[in-house]
Amino acid sequence: MSNGGAPSDRDLRAAVIAGCRDLTRLGLTYGTSGNVSVRRDSGSFFVSPTGMAYDTLEPRDVPLVSLEGAWYGRRQPSSEWRFHRDIMAARAEAGAIVHAHSRYATALACTGRGIPAFHYMVAVAGAEDIRCAPYHMFGTQELSDAALTALEGRRACLLAHHGIIAMGVDLAAALKLAGEVESLAAQYCTALALGNVGLLDARQMQAVIGRFRTYGRQDAVDPALRAGGEALPPKRPLP
Ligand code: 13P
Ligand code: ZN
Repeated sequence: MSNGGAPSDRDLRAAVIAGCRDLTRLGLTYGTSGNVSVRRDSGSFFVSPTGMAYDTLEPRDVPLVSLEGAWYGRRQPSSEWRFHRDIMAARAEAGAIVHAHSRYATALACTGRGIPAFHYMVAVAGAEDIRCAPYHMFGTQELSDAALTALEGRRACLLAHHGIIAMGVDLAAALKLAGEVESLAAQYCTALALGNVGLLDARQMQAVIGRFRTYGRQDAVDPALRAGGEALPPKRPLP
């Protein structure tokens, strides 16, 4: 950390590398597929370099890209710098973005399908479904435009015949969401194979989205539960 607690440029570059390695470690991508970006400030972000094996990367290999489309460093940025740039520009809340070719989400996207409200956890991406953007060649402005549209009101989308994008307030959140989307895609593919997959309705999904605002928070109060204190009560004899 640099003075004042804000991460240094070196820390942010190291975080991008750790994020790339996490994609492989978590089984979310293979080889040099996928890419990772972390916001540096309101006008620029660090993004993984194009086509480099993740295990060879060192912090100086991670380029900086400005929202105006300039890059700085000793390696060329990811071929997908456009969608990283456009998401960083359009979504002020995005602190990090990950892109991967994870198995089940990509399989689903190869059928042109997104993930509908087949399971309540679909709401983790922020809405009642996770859309699939139409196919455009990797690295193109058309792909970036389609991704941005699919991400409206959402923190994740699929890309037809390609993979997934997930964003978060920080890298941990973006990676976690990518893993959730992949898990949901695997469940949905399995359910589709069984057939007769029912969907939750808009009201049910809105209720889940509301519930997620307090889910997992230690300060959230369940009115049906009384706090008994940290010390455990005495054991009661078995009948
Ligand atoms: P980069 O190596 O240029 O990041 O490309 C990987 C990829 O997934 C393109 O969509
Ligand atoms: Zn890709």
